[in-house]
Parts: sequence; C-alpha cells; structure tokens
Amino acid sequence: PVLRVAIMGLGGYATRVAKAMESCKRAKLVGLISGTPSKVVDWRAKYDIPEKNCYNYENFDKIKNNPDIDVVYVITPNGLHKDQVIRVAKAGKHVICEKPMGINAKEGQEMVDACKKANVKLLVGYRMHYEPKTVEVIRMRQNGEFGKLKFFQGLSGFAIGDPTQWRLNKELAGGGAMMDIGIYSINGARFMLGEEPIWVTAQETKTDPVKFKEGVDETIQFQMGFPSGAVASCLSTYAMRHLDRFFLNGEKGFAEMQPSTGYGPIEGRTHKGQLTQPHITHQTLQMDGMAQLIFEGVQPIVPVDGEEGLKDLKIIDAIYEAVKTGKKVDL
Ligand code: NAD
Repeated sequence: PVLRVAIMGLGGYATRVAKAMESCKRAKLVGLISGTPSKVVDWRAKYDIPEKNCYNYENFDKIKNNPDIDVVYVITPNGLHKDQVIRVAKAGKHVICEKPMGINAKEGQEMVDACKKANVKLLVGYRMHYEPKTVEVIRMRQNGEFGKLKFFQGLSGFAIGDPTQWRLNKELAGGGAMMDIGIYSINGARFMLGEEPIWVTAQETKTDPVKFKEGVDETIQFQMGFPSGAVASCLSTYAMRHLDRFFLNGEKGFAEMQPSTGYGPIEGRTHKGQLTQPHITHQTLQMDGMAQLIFEGVQPIVPVDGEEGLKDLKIIDAIYEAVKTGKKVDL
C-alpha cells in the first residue's frame, strides 16, 4: 500500500519534503495541519488535497476519525514537537517527527512512551540513514573494511541569518546550533562508529551574546568517548559557513565526506576510492523507506525510530551539562 501522509507545519522544510514526495512510489501527501488558512488554500490546490483532510492546531485531534490518513509528519519548531506528537499518537496515527525529536531526553522519553502506549510507530526524520553514499560507508564499517575504528570527526554548522527567527528563540528551539545542526555530528558519530558514547566533554564559545541569548548556543566543541576506545571530536556552530564534514579513521582505512549531511549531492571517498553511489533526493528515499518500515517492518541500515531520537537527546543533555560544569559527563 501507499503511505498516506499528513504534514503538520507548512514551513520551509515541509515544502521541501512535499516536493520530494512527488517522486515517491510508496508515500503520498494527502493531508495538512496548519494554523495559516492561506497556506492551506495554496497547498490544497498544488497537491489536490480534499478539504476533509485539512486541520488546524486546535482541531487536529479529530484526525482520529479520518480513515484516509496513516501518518502525521510533524515539521514544526522543535519546542512544539513533544505535545504535537503525543496528541497525534492519542489520535491513533503513526508519527514521523523532525529532528531534534524533542528538546531534551525527558521529552523524548515521554514521546516514546506515549507512542508505545497508543500502539503507533514513532519515527524521526533522519534522512541520512537512507542516503546511498552514507549507507555504503556504514555497510563498509559493518563489514569490517575500516578495521578497528579509532576516530571520528564531525563538523556541522552554517551562518544563521535573521535574529528574530524561532531557531534563535530558546523556548521554540530548545537551544541553539546544537539542537539544529550539531545533532548531525552526534548522530553521524554514532552511525559511523557503530557504538554509543560513554562520556562527553564540551566547551562553548559565544562571540555574539546579543544574537545568541542565554540558552541559545552559538558554537560548541565537544568530544565523545566510546567503549572500544574510539573517540569523536566535533564542532557545532551557527557562526561559520561551509561546515559540513565527516571523517572516520580506522586501522585499515578511512572515509571522508564533504558535504556530509547537506541536501546533496553528498560527496566522499574512502581508502578504496571515490564514493560513486547516485544522488537521489534524500527525502524521497526517506519517505519511501519509512512506508516500507511502517507497512512491512523493513528496517533501514541504522534505526530511525523514537529510541534512536532519544539517544541523540540524551547526548545533547550531557553536552549541555558538560558545557555548564566544565566536567566530563558520563552517559
Ligand atoms: P520553518 O520556520 O520554515 O517552518 C516552521 C513551520 O511551523 C512554519 O510553517 C510555522 O508557521 C509553523 N509553526 C507552527 N506553530 C508555530 C509557532 N508557534 N511558532 C513558529 N512557527 C510555528 O522551519 P523549518 O526549517 O521548516 O523547521 C521545522 C522543523 O524541521 C524543525 O524541527 C527543524 O529542525 C526540522 N528540519 C529538519 C531538516 C532536515 O534536514 N531533516 C531540515 C530543516 C528543518
């Protein structure tokens, strides 16, 4: 069957996801949840969406009675995810939630528990887990082709513009660059090394305290230690351009990717040569993959479920604690 998707929050990334879904074989946009009636008019016309599949933030619990929607994809500011996901779960629909899944591990745990209780699936929009060059590097790692892994470097950042946007509002964003873009280095370290970190250390730099207010991080360098002895060294920032790089080093080989998480094409090479897997729009692969996951239980090479989202949130909590205390934090 085709996965019938309603998108909640018709902003920038939702627009990209909807466009990518035009090329999906297994997923189709059939519903909208928005607080802006004029957007609903435009999107309905563009995607031929019936009025009965359109909701706003007050009435979307009624989606419970709509048999024509399978899943709600939550693409709103981070600080809203938890309550929205729990409401969708209570309405009996599967949920895909954008990253970061919530703004701390406590929220993430509540979301996982609510979806379990409601017997619906909770997936997180980790599009890189479906990206072909990334998948190839993970496959090589699983196959032992890099030998014993020693080191991962993740650099994730961009120069943020408009100071009034929600990404710079503590309440809506849950933090700063770490929540938004640093999470790619955290998640990347985990899937590139194939282990969960046991400690973190972190240091913050803030050059513009007017733009980056209390609780909104501009730049954080952080380090993670893994049970095998491998270490990761990462940078998360809202104050640098062209920062999108992964580097993995093992006793038998290496992988380097730059850009490593941008919308694409991803570029990279390993000790065996250039990565030549084709570029396919990430969100097209993601949504077809998630349809297969929801209907047939077909798992991607690394998980995209709520537990996966929660693991990243626990690490983010520990990084913020390490910044605050200046101490090594055990996980
Ligand atoms: P955006 O500002 O472009 O869109 C956010 C949408 O939420 C807007 O349509 C806005 O109207 C709506 N909204 C609802 N309630 C709101 C409120 N109280 N305040 C502000 N806006 C409200 O943001 P975006 O870039 O689309 O990001 C949305 C989510 O998607 C975030 O969680 C972000 O981290 C995630 N995202 C993921 C990727 C990815 O590659 N996976 C890329 C971009 C964004």
